[in-house]
Amino acid sequence: MVIAISLIVGAAIFVGTVVIVRMIANGPPPEPDPDSVHEVEADYCCSICGMRLTVTHLQDAAPDPPKHCREVMDPA
Ligand SMILES: [Zn+2]
Repeated sequence: MVIAISLIVGAAIFVGTVVIVRMIANGPPPEPDPDSVHEVEADYCCSICGMRLTVTHLQDAAPDPPKHCREVMDPA
């Protein structure tokens, strides 16, 4: 039983290490192309805490609404 638990813990540590090393090796995402950034005015409201967010610039035409309090924000 102790051997099985130690194998599971060892495998979890190994997988976690591989994931972290891959994240470090890939680096940050590339900078956005300034020509593809458009001005928009989109207001969102968090249905949980009431926080409001105004998005002024977007790279994509129709992105998904942002999340806050682990929930998708509602368009305001
Ligand atoms: Zn919230």
